[in-house]
Amino acid sequence: MTSISTAISAAAAALGDLSASPRLDAELLMAHALGVDRNTLILSHMNDLPPPAFSQLVSRRQAHEPVAYIIGERDFWTITLKVAPGVLIPRADSETLIEAALAHFAVPPASILDLGTGPGTLLLAALSEWPEAKGLGVDASPSALAIAEKNARRLGLSARFQLGDWAEALQGQFDLILCNPPYVEEDAELDPQIRSYEPHSALFAGADGLDDYRRIAPQLPALIADGGCAILEIGHAQAPAVTDLLAAEGLKTAIRQDLGGRDRAVIATK
Ligand code: GLN
Repeated sequence: MTSISTAISAAAAALGDLSASPRLDAELLMAHALGVDRNTLILSHMNDLPPPAFSQLVSRRQAHEPVAYIIGERDFWTITLKVAPGVLIPRADSETLIEAALAHFAVPPASILDLGTGPGTLLLAALSEWPEAKGLGVDASPSALAIAEKNARRLGLSARFQLGDWAEALQGQFDLILCNPPYVEEDAELDPQIRSYEPHSALFAGADGLDDYRRIAPQLPALIADGGCAILEIGHAQAPAVTDLLAAEGLKTAIRQDLGGRDRAVIATK
């Protein structure tokens, strides 16, 4: 009889051509099929019989469906976030923004704003570091906000969420502003697991990928509190263009790289 260990190896081989992390995918799908977390799977279940649901989950992944949508969650920073089709899946690259925030503040920020919060990714990761801060997450998608609220509750973090078109209707100032806007060029070649499954409104931003930065940049100077900063995610080739847009609003900027050494975040201060 096939063991879980053998079934995972076979699934990892089957996913090798379409996934950048076939073994991890297979383990996460198996843990989900068993109803346990991945550590428990690896420590305690490798010699058990595979559950019948596993092969169906692997077939879905073979049709390019992202693992995070199949299992309904994704780890980000030190937290686990529920996700569903309709919200952008948190990416490890975005942890660069949390590192930049930690580097900026010697004293914890009292208020945190996340523009385009999706499932609450950046806001809830920041609040996990600074749980006393007042957190506000804004998104244009009501279904994303419903998932973000659920994530905040599950994590025991207190935050407010509101529907909005970037900072359009916002009053007041914030010590820390986080933002991962859509920044992909409309005709960019994207992996089918992204293009066919993730919300285009969270990915694409016009012909040059800069449409949303053009809208956000003029809103930032009034929103950044004294001593605070706005940290924006960027595509790896967008640092010069986004720096120019922020400088045109009178903001100072610095760039931070992701773990792959690519430009990933712009830190803007007054
Ligand atoms: N980094 C993401 C990707 O390449 C894009 C996320 C975004 O547009 N904010 O899929």
